[in-house]
Amino acid sequence: MPRTLDTQTRHALADRVRYCHEMGIYDFYRRETAVIDEPAQSHSDAQEEMSPKKSAAVSPATIVPISPYPEHGFTDPISALKLIREDLGDCTRCKLHQQRNKIVFGVGDPHAELMFVGEGPGADEDAQGEPFVGRAGQLLNNMIKAMGLRREDVYIANIVKCRPPGNRQPERDESETCSPFLMRQIAAIKPKAIVALGATAAKNLLALNAPMTELRGRWYDFKPAAADPAWPGARLAVTYHPAFLLRDPRQKGEAWRDLQMVMKYLGIEPPKKAVE
Ligand code: SF4
Repeated sequence: MPRTLDTQTRHALADRVRYCHEMGIYDFYRRETAVIDEPAQSHSDAQEEMSPKKSAAVSPATIVPISPYPEHGFTDPISALKLIREDLGDCTRCKLHQQRNKIVFGVGDPHAELMFVGEGPGADEDAQGEPFVGRAGQLLNNMIKAMGLRREDVYIANIVKCRPPGNRQPERDESETCSPFLMRQIAAIKPKAIVALGATAAKNLLALNAPMTELRGRWYDFKPAAADPAWPGARLAVTYHPAFLLRDPRQKGEAWRDLQMVMKYLGIEPPKKAVE
């Protein structure tokens, strides 16, 4: 009969597996053994059971892989995201925690077909705990609106969830430490399309080191390693970061072309007006 773990045990198990990961141990298996109803035993039966032959008489073991992630097994993305947020906790896993005010986890529809992924929170986001709420956020809202969608229809997150000091780019160790949580969010939401905003987000998601001119204008297949095998994955497109578009508005037309490619894939009817 299948057995389920209570939440506390599942979290304790996840902590244990994470600890093993930090020790460099990655493969885990649960050995399931059959529970055998024991009849009342006579003294002679008990003596007989001491023989090696009898004590080895158990059902063949079943090897079942287990996941280090507490949200695995949850098909509901709302519950899965809640568990990921709980797992992140008051995170101090990288040095970006030292100066942050608020962790910026992500916002939007857990069932979204479209995700936007930026680089990291800025000052406004750090203060409010929500991604893309400053001037760049206003422009992103306009871009989403121009697509015929609302901010609440999509999901927005960043490669790192704490503000890099002075709005510098996240360092490699910071991205590598934080982005597994983003991968788990993507695996929980299972979007059809992801738009990487800017070169830093694109390079982190795609593990590609190429200029924006090469990264843009095409689709990439994207699926986090820990995602449900039944999910085919998302398609990923790259466009300019809204903060860059604020500095160089001449590139808005190019960004609009990128978004039109996404709209076509998602079957969104192109509105008449482009990004303002
Ligand atoms: Fe934790 Fe990510 Fe913040 Fe680093 S950036 S402290 S890994 S939440």
